[in-house]
Amino acid sequence: MAEGGVMEFDAALAVVLREAERLPLGEMETVALPVARGRVLAKAVLADRDQPPFDRSTRDGFAVRAADVDGEMEVIGQVRAGERWAGVAMAAGEAIQIMTGAPLPEGADAVVMVEHVTAAGGRLRVEAGRTLRAGENVVPHGAEARSGDVVLAERTALVAAEIAMAAACGAALVEVFKRPRVAIVATGDELVEIGETPREWEIRNSNSYGLAAMVEAAGAEAVRLPIARDDVGALLAALAEARRCDLVLMSGGVSMGEYDLVEQVLAGAGAAFFFTGVKMQPGRPVVFGQLPVEGALRARYMYGLPGNPVSTQVTFHCLVEPLLRAMCGAEVEGPRFVQATLGEDVEAKQGLMRMLPARLTTWRVRPEVRLVGWKGSGDLGANARANCYAVLPGDEAGFRAGDVISVLLR
Ligand code: AMP
Ligand code: MG
Repeated sequence: MAEGGVMEFDAALAVVLREAERLPLGEMETVALPVARGRVLAKAVLADRDQPPFDRSTRDGFAVRAADVDGEMEVIGQVRAGERWAGVAMAAGEAIQIMTGAPLPEGADAVVMVEHVTAAGGRLRVEAGRTLRAGENVVPHGAEARSGDVVLAERTALVAAEIAMAAACGAALVEVFKRPRVAIVATGDELVEIGETPREWEIRNSNSYGLAAMVEAAGAEAVRLPIARDDVGALLAALAEARRCDLVLMSGGVSMGEYDLVEQVLAGAGAAFFFTGVKMQPGRPVVFGQLPVEGALRARYMYGLPGNPVSTQVTFHCLVEPLLRAMCGAEVEGPRFVQATLGEDVEAKQGLMRMLPARLTTWRVRPEVRLVGWKGSGDLGANARANCYAVLPGDEAGFRAGDVISVLLR
């Protein structure tokens, strides 16, 4: 149950992952494979026949008996992909020209590549010194999967590789989990919508749009609700509407200011808090809690995310996405951290774990990371120039070029 208070990052993440493990599986629906990208399988996909369905040549060349490669062979015909050898079984000393993807003729046990032979006048010779073992350049019937095998397990997310696998099994329709609906409520008296012209002291609501994009990318459906003003009545009304979705994300109003009322409003709605802050920067004020589920109010969980846009996005990736992915039906996984080599010296404040906007050169075999200069957690420009966040643990003050650090992918 709720533990409350300000937590270390690892402890907060452990709470999120624990709750993700406890989620009941969602409802399912049937969708057409071409529009299933990003969805999560509710039912496994099975091989509808053996894969490959025949002994498949993986090369253009000649089907032979491996034992014959020392001598001269007679080419007795050709077999292409999309047909099978209709003649009698191949005998010793014979060869059949074969194309990639064609079935190995009966009697042959290997394929010698076209690059390794000389063929003229119906006679075939394998180049001197080249050996061939039985089975070479052939994938045997059923080696990849047997009919009825699970080729894609339940709770697998469908991306390109999985979609191609499902297609190979003739799964034109797949059973997937319904996408959870995520309510997004930006709070703040200073906010205007993007179509409006802000007065000098106002700013545009960017968080709702950033959050909606992250929610959709995670495989859920974003429901952007109107901006809620910084007063208890407005926040209560917004929360009541938001709770009709499966998850509530609020942004802003969770810091220490006099008009930061979100925590108070959530508590008034019966929320129990797992944490009311995390020792990280940006993102310290983040709140995570549980809501009573009753009647049309479906949401079991809610987050109060910090209003500063970089904080909103960092905390989403670390602490919301793992739960949301599980709500989408995916196997529970934490945030995506990878190791990278620092490309420059970095002086860091000691005491608080930091996740700073940075650029990772992913195209290098040894990825290198450099900070993007920023003006603090409101700096949307720095966030947009970044492609990851460099993790600087709070127990060290300085980092040197060449140090290996963790990077949070997004
Ligand atoms: P708060 O967490 O409400 O104290 O807000 C912290 C900072 O984030 C303030 O500078 C807010 O103006 C800004 N902020 C809050 N909500 C949003 C939003 N939806 N879009 C952009 N900036 C925001
Ligand atoms: Mg505010």
